[in-house]
Amino acid sequence: MLTLITNARVFAPEPLGTRQVLIAGDRIAAVAETVDLRGNAVDVIDADGGILLPGLVDVLTHPCGGGGEGGFQNRTAEVGFEAFLRAGVTGPVGALGTDSITRSLDVLYGTVMELRRNGLDAFMYTGSYRVPADTLTGDIARDLVLVDPVLGVGELAISDHRSSQPTTDEIRRTAADARLGGIISGKGGIVLVHVGDGEGGLAPIRDALSTSDLPITSFLPTHVNRNQALLDEAIEFAKEGGCIDITVSSVPEFIEQGEVPALQALESVIAAGVPDGNYSLSSDAGGSLPLYRDGKLQGLQAAGPGVLLELLCDVLSGQPETAAATIASMTRNPARALGLETKGRIEPDCDANFLILNQATHALTDVFCRGRRLMRRGAIE
Ligand code: ZN
Repeated sequence: MLTLITNARVFAPEPLGTRQVLIAGDRIAAVAETVDLRGNAVDVIDADGGILLPGLVDVLTHPCGGGGEGGFQNRTAEVGFEAFLRAGVTGPVGALGTDSITRSLDVLYGTVMELRRNGLDAFMYTGSYRVPADTLTGDIARDLVLVDPVLGVGELAISDHRSSQPTTDEIRRTAADARLGGIISGKGGIVLVHVGDGEGGLAPIRDALSTSDLPITSFLPTHVNRNQALLDEAIEFAKEGGCIDITVSSVPEFIEQGEVPALQALESVIAAGVPDGNYSLSSDAGGSLPLYRDGKLQGLQAAGPGVLLELLCDVLSGQPETAAATIASMTRNPARALGLETKGRIEPDCDANFLILNQATHALTDVFCRGRRLMRRGAIE
């Protein structure tokens, strides 16, 4: 089956201008001003001048719910297929969150497989906030090798009052096991690290790196825009070759307490000269947004996956010069950090995971994942 998208403004994520994109099965076959069809029967879709970009890869989501601080009444809800699809997230990566007691990796696996069967390119992490890490098979490396959707370990919590307060040895061992599993299975084998607002910042990761042979890319710290000091530290980490992840979900109270808004954080990362590719944006969908004052829980909301596309729409309308970097932060960069080399780009031989946004309103109109059209003109197929 061949599908030709015509008249699309392509962000690959590099801006390519108006291009045609040929889809053959589940892959992108060609990207050109005019694709040579050589007489093949082709289903032609006119993008009508809309923006065509890779499907979003979200390195941190909680499809089976994340938090639940303050009691069972606060358990965050599951995030389902339709929510991810309407958010343009074709590649959600699921993790357990604060609560790995009443939510398990078995449940997460089932939820991720449900997303896959519905057509998304969903993945997951083994482990949770805690060490020793929860696993599916009894061993981190075995999980990576034997369980298809498992890409790494996450979100291991550090510098947070809710974490296991892991020792350097525990962090090192967790990352080494993830790396071994990644090497054997051909996956990224990274540890997604939840960094809290404790004074330690990235120091636990630094300690693990300086006392081991692990490469800096073994760790992907997230929530690095939690405060300015942590963001500054993360910028240095990324300039040294590490990858960092900025959380887009927020509430006004977090910003009041010193969180750096995601777009502002992205701009300062770029302005600081962090290598192109070493930063990403994630939603933390399904995660809790607990509001603590003086160590006491004041309230709690849940994050949604739509924040990435909302941010992108704001950028496309208000500051289009930042559009390519913003798109890269939601597509190519996270895919690379996770070792998903065929995702997050509009190039021949890459997976045909892409979105089309309306030319004028930037609303999401079409979603393709692995060559399958999941959304047509705003309606779910
Ligand atoms: Zn987290």
